[in-house]
Amino acid sequence: MFPKRRMRRLRLERIRPLIRETTLSVNDLIMPFFVDETIKKPVEISSMPGQYRYPVEQISDEVGNCLETGLKAFILFGIPSSKDDIGSSAFDEDGVIQRAVKSIKADHPDAVVITDVCLCEYTSHGHCGIVENESVLNDPTLEILGKTAVSHARAGADIVAPSGMMDGMVEAIRTSLDEEGYENVLIMSYAAKYASAFYGPFRDAADSGFSFGDRMGYQMDPPNSDEALREVELDIIEGADIIMVKPALSYLDIIIKVKSEFGMPTAAYNVSGEYAMVKAAAIQGWLKEEEIVNEMLISIKRAGADLILTYFAKDVARRLHEYGEI
Ligand SMILES: [Zn+2]
Repeated sequence: MFPKRRMRRLRLERIRPLIRETTLSVNDLIMPFFVDETIKKPVEISSMPGQYRYPVEQISDEVGNCLETGLKAFILFGIPSSKDDIGSSAFDEDGVIQRAVKSIKADHPDAVVITDVCLCEYTSHGHCGIVENESVLNDPTLEILGKTAVSHARAGADIVAPSGMMDGMVEAIRTSLDEEGYENVLIMSYAAKYASAFYGPFRDAADSGFSFGDRMGYQMDPPNSDEALREVELDIIEGADIIMVKPALSYLDIIIKVKSEFGMPTAAYNVSGEYAMVKAAAIQGWLKEEEIVNEMLISIKRAGADLILTYFAKDVARRLHEYGEI
């Protein structure tokens, strides 16, 4: 008891780093990139200042720049030159992602390349699966997801990341990969993905806005958390190697629950809307961006995430490279 116990002794400046419970390292970070088949030079995304769509021909150089900061892992989203009802450009062997992965792996074989596996960027209606009568069909979508994952693995992807919240998607993809001899390709599943308004800027970035309805029919309802555990458990049973909670900041409670319940490698997606909020306030001079970003990412790690997908990854990696720790 006070006065023998003085908590402030632990807060002396030279003592604080010694007892810090949570730290951030470049190994925790995954940088998302948008690769666009329809452009010839990088195009800034208006609702995500500082983030760009890159042409296929330039993505490998940008990955190279990131590798110099110590970043190792990247997740790719594709914007194809053509879209149709079933998203067939998603599994085109010569599609945008397949070409991007091949070029990155040719130049940087040690980079960890993760590919988003979904159809919403490739379908003309913008939904994550095959649509009939304005409803997304689950089972016929699975076959296309399997084909897409195999085509990414064939191009050299290390990890495929199914994000469409179809029932059975992880099992379908694991089976397809194993049948084609890609048993060492990992699956990082968007296991607890909420139907969130925080994805708004992403739809500008990936050109994946939908022409009708919403995604409440397959993504999770934000008020639910027990359901997240059931979603995650199913994905683990189906063969997911890494499971993801998305978004991150409004769902820290879900990260804690998932990590403590399953003890699996757990990723959290610090999404486009979370990025845009910080950027908008920083541009106005209302927040100090670097301090906010550090605190935000540490909070996601403290909640139990092993990996953070964040558009701030490159900036943070640069600071870690410079200062050692932040
Ligand atoms: Zn999707």
